[in-house]
Amino acid sequence: MPKIAALLEKALQGERLSSSEGLLLWNEAHWTRMAEVGHALRNRKQDPGTVSYTAYRLINYTNACDVDCSFCSFQDEVASSRAYVLSLDEIRAKAVEAKSLGADQILFQGGVHVGIPKQYYLDALSMLHHELGMHVRGFSPIEISRYAQTFKMSIPALLGEFKAAGLGSVPGAGAEILTERMRLKLSPRKLPLEDWCAVMGECHRAGLPGSANIVFGSDELPEDLIGHLDAIRTQQDLTQGFKSFVPWIFQPQTKRFFIRHVTGPEYLKMVALCRIYLDNIAHIEASALVMGKDLAELALYSGADDMNSYVIEENVLRSKGLSSESAAQKFIREAGFSPKRRSLNFDE
Ligand code: SF4
Repeated sequence: MPKIAALLEKALQGERLSSSEGLLLWNEAHWTRMAEVGHALRNRKQDPGTVSYTAYRLINYTNACDVDCSFCSFQDEVASSRAYVLSLDEIRAKAVEAKSLGADQILFQGGVHVGIPKQYYLDALSMLHHELGMHVRGFSPIEISRYAQTFKMSIPALLGEFKAAGLGSVPGAGAEILTERMRLKLSPRKLPLEDWCAVMGECHRAGLPGSANIVFGSDELPEDLIGHLDAIRTQQDLTQGFKSFVPWIFQPQTKRFFIRHVTGPEYLKMVALCRIYLDNIAHIEASALVMGKDLAELALYSGADDMNSYVIEENVLRSKGLSSESAAQKFIREAGFSPKRRSLNFDE
């Protein structure tokens, strides 16, 4: 297939692929050829012998949420008896426990609960960062956008206060597939593409970098996948705040949306596509948490250079991940690489 070979050669030469070229690769290239090129590009950008990992604790400060994404079983009605908002003491206890287990970073996310006062976030961020010395990555774009509205502040003003209180980076979450067709199916009350990108741009401009991701395995079309990657690449050209990119697949949490089985080759092809298409993002993360260890290991030979690990608490996804630092190091060594611990912002 000469056209495919030419496109892969173009990527190997460091030339950017257009969206129609990305689409052609996704539709027609064999995953093994994609993985080969993905791995070669990874080796050019990152130390071929090293795979990085990190250690953080996820703290979901509330499970109350009014956004009602069809794939999410985590949200709860604010009025429901099962809804919770963690107290500052509960947050502190979780962070102290994380430190004792070797994690010095916190991923701090809700629910979107507009009844929580701003001071709660400022106190939590300050306690986690200034008192306990943790790096805090927190708040998806929908949380930032809704809280700015609720507190009657501009997004830059809110980010400025959160950063001064201790926020160190943002997860870039809540963008499963950034096309209008998929947003209307999955999360019609989340931010549309332009708004999601605008919030991420403000975060990056405020000195709050982070990651981005794609979640696939519903009834998305190939055009939706490429459209999503293209939106991320365009935003990255503008603000350069995405340190890494993580491909995930949907988990069967609810019966309110269509979910299909994503095969191993399809996941690996996506890892390779991310490495090839996102020529301006330095790191691609493999996930043992969602994909299991066997596929995560193969992902390290398909374009990924980092293990999204290890997470001490995960409420949203069922865990198949690496449960300790030694488990992460052992996994990386057995995969054929030297493990290197990194921070959430990929600092040494
Ligand atoms: S995915 Fe996030 S925003 Fe959507 S319903 Fe669940 S908790 Fe709320």
